[in-house]
Amino acid sequence: MRLAIDGGKPARNAPLPPNYPGAVMMGQEEAAGATEVILSKSPFRYYGPDVQNAVHRFEDTMSAGLGVPYALGVSSCTSALIVALKALGIGYGDKVIVPANTFLATAGAVVCSHAVPVFVDVDDSLNMNPLDLERVWDEDVKAIIAVPILGNPCDMDAIMAFARARGVPVIEDVAQSCGSSYKGRYAGTIGDIGVFSFQMNKIITSGEGGAVVTRDALLFERAVRYHDQGLFRDKERYGLESDEEANGFIGQNYRMSELAGSVLIEQWNKLEGINASTRRNHAAILSVLKASLPGFRSRKVVDEEGYLGSNLGMILPSAETAAAFIRALDAENIGTHLLYGGKPVYRQPQLYEQRTADKNNFPFDYRFRKPVSYKKQPCQAAEDLMARTVYLPVSPLLTSEDIEQITEGIVKVHRALVSEARQ
Ligand SMILES: *Cc1c(COP(=O)(O)O)cnc(C)c1O
Repeated sequence: MRLAIDGGKPARNAPLPPNYPGAVMMGQEEAAGATEVILSKSPFRYYGPDVQNAVHRFEDTMSAGLGVPYALGVSSCTSALIVALKALGIGYGDKVIVPANTFLATAGAVVCSHAVPVFVDVDDSLNMNPLDLERVWDEDVKAIIAVPILGNPCDMDAIMAFARARGVPVIEDVAQSCGSSYKGRYAGTIGDIGVFSFQMNKIITSGEGGAVVTRDALLFERAVRYHDQGLFRDKERYGLESDEEANGFIGQNYRMSELAGSVLIEQWNKLEGINASTRRNHAAILSVLKASLPGFRSRKVVDEEGYLGSNLGMILPSAETAAAFIRALDAENIGTHLLYGGKPVYRQPQLYEQRTADKNNFPFDYRFRKPVSYKKQPCQAAEDLMARTVYLPVSPLLTSEDIEQITEGIVKVHRALVSEARQ
């Protein structure tokens, strides 16, 4: 069959639906929640004429849903990462291990917390390769951030075993994977602290927003304090004792507004439904591709049941084939993409050049026993795989007709560029 890029009939006449799963599911429920806050004239969580406790109720919904004692709503996942790092006492003179395949914010939050990220390579899952942790380990490392990329859970047993053996905590950056799980436990609840994003590009959303979850009362108290100018309001709610004189410290303002909280309660109620539809659509597409295309390769998944399937990661034989594959699928009206320009995060110029807004590029001016340069230690698997892993966004809204057209288009293009091109 002729490819659309060569003048053939495209597999679809219109682009795929936008893949903002939470945003496309917004409706009367979120509107009612936000209206309640507005009519109460109390958009701030801690006081007002008639506070609706929306953030408070969202935190309770989230902690009950995930099965953890403590959840804190914050303004973004970037602030959640900073709050988590500061709760752990991480700062100047510390290194934090971050996967090479992640969004700039994961590494940026480490720098904004005054520590320096060091990058660990990926494996065929496109997540952190636990076998590479030893390479970047030294005694300056004070935490590990695991990032399940696009709904695919990390190999948490191996990561936790490494971290526990070295006595360092693990933060799970679950920004892209809300509701995913590993061996029956929700991502974000396996390490010491989990952080979530509710920005619009994520699974559920209030436009902007984030959360911090933990089982540890002391970490929670420090997180609350750091996110709210060092204060710990509402102590009674948690039954925690905390002495203002002895335990207070200087913090930020990373608070969540009541408007965001009210929307997120309704989004959380939709989370399971969104993820179930997405998973079903992903499974339907993947099974056709596997059956029709010998040599078809997708990302390794360490826990199929816990995988969200919000994007289908297809591994192509080379970066050139991947680029041609994306171009050909675009012509079929099937939008796919490389993640982060197909480059490890340390290739972003800000990180590569270790440039910050501070004097002497603080905190990169710290003299570590083993100096940190991103130019000398590229992560080979990430350099290779990120440039040739093409992601198909899988919306919960796909119809069976969409799925037919998508699989037909991918099969056609894959045959032309990969399966048959090789013979
Ligand atoms: C989006 C994202 C963030 C940042 O989230 P914000 O809420 O936009 O601050 C952090 N980490 C990862 C892995 C992300 O995908």
